[in-house]
Amino acid sequence: MKIAIIGVGSVGSAVATAVKNTGLVHEIVLFDRDSARARAAAEDLGHAATFGFDVKISAVNNYRGVRGSDIVIISAGANQKPGQTRTDLLQNNAEVIRDIVPKVMANVDPKRVILILVTNPLDVMVMLAQSIAKLPPARVIGTGTMLDSARLRTILSRYLSVSPQSVHSYVLGEHGDSSVVDWSSVTIGGLSLDDFCKQTKNPLSVSTRNTIEYRVHNAAYEIIRGRGATWDGIGAAVADLLRSIINDEHRILTVSIVSGTGSNISAMSLPRVVGANGVLVTLKPKMSVAESNALRRSGRIIQKNFSHI
Ligand code: NAD
Repeated sequence: MKIAIIGVGSVGSAVATAVKNTGLVHEIVLFDRDSARARAAAEDLGHAATFGFDVKISAVNNYRGVRGSDIVIISAGANQKPGQTRTDLLQNNAEVIRDIVPKVMANVDPKRVILILVTNPLDVMVMLAQSIAKLPPARVIGTGTMLDSARLRTILSRYLSVSPQSVHSYVLGEHGDSSVVDWSSVTIGGLSLDDFCKQTKNPLSVSTRNTIEYRVHNAAYEIIRGRGATWDGIGAAVADLLRSIINDEHRILTVSIVSGTGSNISAMSLPRVVGANGVLVTLKPKMSVAESNALRRSGRIIQKNFSHI
């Protein structure tokens, strides 16, 4: 299994580390328009590899080096500076995707390659990449709200004093400020959230739920304020997504692909079954009327942003 990572800044390096540590790939190639940066990352990661799985890691200085890749991860482009939203990156990163995707597609097998998008604003970049690559939407996958869902699971699990592994909860819609916490579909040990709280005599008040939502929505801003960028969480999320693809695990992940019909076509995150051929099935989650309305609003925001590039 050969994978390519395009854009080897904070995120691309963290992705490379996390992917290398899965032991599932035999070759990782790194490309960055800053070739010295890609070479340095390949050198450093290559040294790290001697302590773990035997993975061949190299920097390439043109897109011919991407040939033979089964999966291409795009993590290039500007990141948020303190105070910036993901949407502020729209025009700049649209140019980055327009630059990268045709060059990648000229060097991979369109019948089997899977593109994984990480660049923000994520959902619009998925729409753009899919329209340029002309691949089936199921094989142009954005990490979407995987990270937001992980943040929700972590925060909720601390309030409920259970392991995050026992919490099933999803953040849906845009990977951005309009994302929707789907309280209606939360289950813990097979129980609904309300049942679990009743049985454990640990009620979650409305204000606690609001605090949890606030923390989920603002997690990236907090991390960027403290360490300049976010990278470890997204690195782990990409490795998790890759595992489901490479092992054909059929895991249910909140990834973003282009879907919908008529005037409702948009990329956004919903719970989707992911396997060797990319997204296999999209699930319709249980939602309240307010949550469904918020999800529709989120879709409209993504469409509007897409129409501006
Ligand atoms: P960074 O500035 O550290 O690295 C970006 C890299 O992209 C740089 O090395 C730059 O040289 C390279 N690059 C820019 N344009 C390029 C091009 N046309 N071709 C090849 N390489 C190019 O930024 P980062 O912190 O690594 O963030 C990268 C992206 O990931 C940002 O858009 C950020 O917002 C996004 N991100 C997404 C998530 C998520 O959950 N989806 C999480 C964190 C960050």
